[in-house]
Amino acid sequence: MTQDPATQRREATNVDGMAGTQGADPLAVDPADVLGGPRAGAFDEKSPPDAALIGDCVHCGFCLPTCPTYVLWGEEMDSPRGRIYLMKEGLEGEPMTDEMVGHFDACLGCMACVTACPSGVQYDTLIEQTRAQVERHHERSASEKALRGLIFSLFPHPKRLRLMRGPLKVMQRTGLDRAVRRTGLLERLAPQLAAMEKLAPRLGKAMPLPAHITAIGERRMTVGMLVGCVQGAFFPGVNAATARVLRAEGCDVVVPQDQGCCGALSVHAGREDEGKAFAKALVDAFDDAGVERIVVNAAGCGSTMKEYAELLADEPAYADRARRFAELVRDVSEVLLELGPRAERHPLDVTIAYHDACHLAHAQGIRKQPRDLLTDIPGLTLKEIPEAEICCGSAGIYNILHPEPAQELGDRKAANIVKTGAELLVTANPGCLMQVTASLDRHAEQNGSRPMGMAHTIEVLDASIHGAPLSTLMDR
Ligand code: SF4
Ligand code: SF4
Repeated sequence: MTQDPATQRREATNVDGMAGTQGADPLAVDPADVLGGPRAGAFDEKSPPDAALIGDCVHCGFCLPTCPTYVLWGEEMDSPRGRIYLMKEGLEGEPMTDEMVGHFDACLGCMACVTACPSGVQYDTLIEQTRAQVERHHERSASEKALRGLIFSLFPHPKRLRLMRGPLKVMQRTGLDRAVRRTGLLERLAPQLAAMEKLAPRLGKAMPLPAHITAIGERRMTVGMLVGCVQGAFFPGVNAATARVLRAEGCDVVVPQDQGCCGALSVHAGREDEGKAFAKALVDAFDDAGVERIVVNAAGCGSTMKEYAELLADEPAYADRARRFAELVRDVSEVLLELGPRAERHPLDVTIAYHDACHLAHAQGIRKQPRDLLTDIPGLTLKEIPEAEICCGSAGIYNILHPEPAQELGDRKAANIVKTGAELLVTANPGCLMQVTASLDRHAEQNGSRPMGMAHTIEVLDASIHGAPLSTLMDR
């Protein structure tokens, strides 16, 4: 990804400093001009970026300081406002160029701009619509296609991911992974594959969950549980901790054994049909579960599952079921706060830094719940991380597709985390866990300091409820 074309385009379109633009509004779109009818520009008629939503942007620029790509490069076209401007240009007849796609691809989909926007611009909907158009109309290079093909033939398939555990464990135990890394060969030949290798977490033992787990004491709720793809294969301990905590808090836990991917990765990458197919299969899998809530412990999955009603609105056989399904979906922190604590919390004498996963904080508005759960633990001190609203660079598969900016954002996040002086970093998304672990390890290596412990929110709660020693959290 080069920045030069962005600069050229910015100058050509002269939208820098739009906040001060006088006269005709450069972002104003007459919906009548662009909705319906054949389109000669970048987008076809099937859900192009919504002109009315584009028109909501008053180009005030409040979103700019929270946008990670704008923070990194300072380029208008790599800001939310600039990308919205490009969408408008595409609607008005501009063709879909490589430069235009480069700016859309560079967006992390972190939704920090949605939180920051005082005008309520629905950038999340706009970029989703745009990405689906890009996937339909943009011809990617052979190497890009191969990489995306590899990613999507692997990550949304829990069984295939589980098959990877064996060879990965052998590599980690024999030190082959570190040896390969030291040669720097993979980095030079295929930086994206090198990024993938660096992100792989240290694997513990597999812990498959049974189909039914019975509440301890009087049952307060029956919940279904999403196992997830990456969470299930690479962080089985997080799922086991989730089930133990729910059970301790009086929940019967139903784990449909035929569940697959929720479709989040596909939907966020514009692979609309694939995402819908995964969503439909998941609705089917929970159909007969008879649960009052569907609990999710991965932020990216939860935010997509809460949007199934919109995603499957045009599917007659699924629209109603998808709406009912979405109404039941909750992050695990939401369900635990709804229930209120029943199991005793044992002290954990630890200072933690809590990292907001973008798809929990920005996409679902969940910030208070995990903090409340954590600060209820006796002895635990919570520190806030400077620049908390800026993404860590994980963003689904972004850190594989765009390793360089992802690493810069990871390094920035690691430096901010270390500033807190915390002993343990806590977050609620497997992607963040991998990205921040790799970034903190790099920081420790470069500064000769001890790597920081990392844990999912639910693992900290599990340790407190079950009186586990702090070392179980610190030894990752
Ligand atoms: S904050 Fe909202 S209205 Fe202002 S420029 Fe950003 S997207 Fe547009
Ligand atoms: S989603 Fe994130 S990266 Fe994309 S424009 Fe918004 S703030 Fe920037």
